[in-house]
Amino acid sequence: MKVAFIGLGHMGSPMARNLLRAGHEVTVYNRSREKAQALATDGGHVSDSPADACRDAEVVMTMLADDHAVEEVVFGKNGILSALKNGHIHVSHSTISTTLARRLATEHGHRGQGYLSVPVFGRPEAAEGKKLVVVAAGPTQVVDRCRTLFDAIGKITYVVGSEPWQANAAKVCGNFMIISMVESFSEAFAALRKAGVAPQLFVDVINSLFQSPVYGNYGKMMAAEQFEPAGFALRLGLKDVRLALQVADECTAPMPVASLIRDHMLDALAHGQGDMDWSSIAKVAARAAGL
Ligand code: NAP
Repeated sequence: MKVAFIGLGHMGSPMARNLLRAGHEVTVYNRSREKAQALATDGGHVSDSPADACRDAEVVMTMLADDHAVEEVVFGKNGILSALKNGHIHVSHSTISTTLARRLATEHGHRGQGYLSVPVFGRPEAAEGKKLVVVAAGPTQVVDRCRTLFDAIGKITYVVGSEPWQANAAKVCGNFMIISMVESFSEAFAALRKAGVAPQLFVDVINSLFQSPVYGNYGKMMAAEQFEPAGFALRLGLKDVRLALQVADECTAPMPVASLIRDHMLDALAHGQGDMDWSSIAKVAARAAGL
């Protein structure tokens, strides 16, 4: 399939490479051109703007930092909205607000363009290994047209609703579950360090109770206090907790644990941890314990 891929950061680059490996014809665009240039060696065509990238593409996939980045790339000068052909589809993989997802569905719809929200679970290593968990929402026939693309980037696809924004709600609630686990690891590690129990041994105990890659991978990183380089930057993680709280507001469903975690992430940000991995929230519990 002819696709465009826009946003070649930690996640976008390996996702675009897997599309190329699966035999799709991929045109890439990134704000900082050198990241797009790196994909040229794998067979990607490099373009000069989002509009150029998606002019001939049946599907344009975006993997950008946040709402602001998506708004610039879609609605800005030389943006996707102005160039995507009638009947062609925008697949948004970024973790964005439900509000923006609704606006994207409406604006694309007005132009006869398709729109799907398809956020993903998994860190850059999972993206590289084609092991992402893909969560899609949107009209069934549009989802079906894009399934081969989802198969190229992930190990499984779940369709969680017919309204695109429902996938964004599921994604931010999923990330809330992950960071809640990281928070509880943080508190347990701080207590156990003071109790003289080796963190790595505790991770082994926990892994025999909960068979989850989330516990396994984060537990190992946190036991080793290895927070740099960031696989998922804390400043982006804070954005996701805020998005979960926004869903809590929209649905009138209190999320008190999310509120606590937001404050701990603000503490981390105030201590200069914005570009560290979001699991560095462990430092907040450690500081509170006087470590
Ligand atoms: P990243 O490495 O920081 O990449 C962000 C991308 O967005 C880059 O291509 C960046 O371009 C682009 N960008 C930022 N602001 C822009 C703007 N105003 N205009 C145009 N392009 C802009 O982030 P990432 O880790 O790949 O994450 C991307 C998305 O995936 C986020 O929504 C994140 O929450 C989500 N996510 C991340 C993970 C993870 O573990 N990392 C896992 C699942 C989902 P430049 O290169 O020019 O800066």
